[in-house]
Amino acid sequence: MKRINRMNRKMIRKIALAVGVSLAFSGCGGIGNSANPNSGVSGEVYAMDTYMTYTLYGDRAQEAADEVLKEIERLDALLSTEQAQSEIYILNQNKGGVLSEDTAFLWDYSRRISDETQGAFAVGIYPVMKLWGFGEEKQQVPDEEALKEVLPFVDLAKAEWTEQSKLLTLPEGAAVDFGGIAKGYTGYRLRELLKQFGIEHALINLGGNVQLIGSKPDGTSYRIGIKDPMGGASPVGVLSVKDVAVISSGGYERYFEEGGIRYHHIIDPATGYPAESGLASVTIVAEDGTLADAYSTALYVMGLDKACSFWRERPETFQAVFVTEEGKILITKGLEGVFTSPSKYETIK
Ligand code: AMP
Ligand code: MG
Repeated sequence: MKRINRMNRKMIRKIALAVGVSLAFSGCGGIGNSANPNSGVSGEVYAMDTYMTYTLYGDRAQEAADEVLKEIERLDALLSTEQAQSEIYILNQNKGGVLSEDTAFLWDYSRRISDETQGAFAVGIYPVMKLWGFGEEKQQVPDEEALKEVLPFVDLAKAEWTEQSKLLTLPEGAAVDFGGIAKGYTGYRLRELLKQFGIEHALINLGGNVQLIGSKPDGTSYRIGIKDPMGGASPVGVLSVKDVAVISSGGYERYFEEGGIRYHHIIDPATGYPAESGLASVTIVAEDGTLADAYSTALYVMGLDKACSFWRERPETFQAVFVTEEGKILITKGLEGVFTSPSKYETIK
């Protein structure tokens, strides 16, 4: 992890454009490590393969900011699939082990989400990710036979989990990847941590995964822009929200091209190929960042129709903004009055 001490505004603007939800409209000024009570204490850090920024408000904001960095660093070192010393790396190498509190929680949580989403969220996706080369320097379209061989391990049906001793045993060929949930979980953890410092207002942007604590210090909502998944410079809409997580998933976030075809990093566990669900992005708004992150990935895989049914079964748990590949924008009913857009959009009821 690299601490960024001096980052100019131009660079920050570039980052804001690169992320799924941008803070261009947040009205939150402080860049760098300032401790002005009006602008809050801000900082930036590169971790989990992405730029993260935060602004904290409160008497103990400086003290809390140091702990925020430590917590991000700790979780990055724990959950990375590529860092040779990470818990997940070692777990995948050894095909099992006793899980720490964080990974045991994430394991349980991910398995629950997999059941709920009928396998669309698959924490066992790692062998497939590896064949595609995501997370590595070079990506490529894998050999079809090689994909067929690893696909049966993705559902982790043969993994053995002992709740009491937190012992996980993976079958030969299986491996886990918490990439679809790690940033949302980090946001959730930071929220819990900041409570201990009495921080009532904060904005944390973990590479486009936003976790808000309370409102802006003046009591108004934060304005979170949703990136245009087609690459347009203006956001497709803006959410005026407080005290929630806002998390986007989309093929535009990470991809490569081969033979004129674009291949992205969100895999349909049923095929082993990048999900082609007709959705360009899914943004989830929920109190719980862990849930929002897992759902954003899963609903992107499911596609609009299944995602709508899924929301209708639990309309109080989360809200969503969908952008289809044709550029259609749809929001769930709970975002009426919260979402604004210069474009036309439909409301799902
Ligand atoms: P996100 O940006 O939250 O949608 O997460 C994408 C990341 O989740 C990928 O880079 C993979 O590490 C992992 N991933 C890809 N496909 C899936 C899937 N179907 N279920 C769970 N995690 C996935
Ligand atoms: Mg996700």
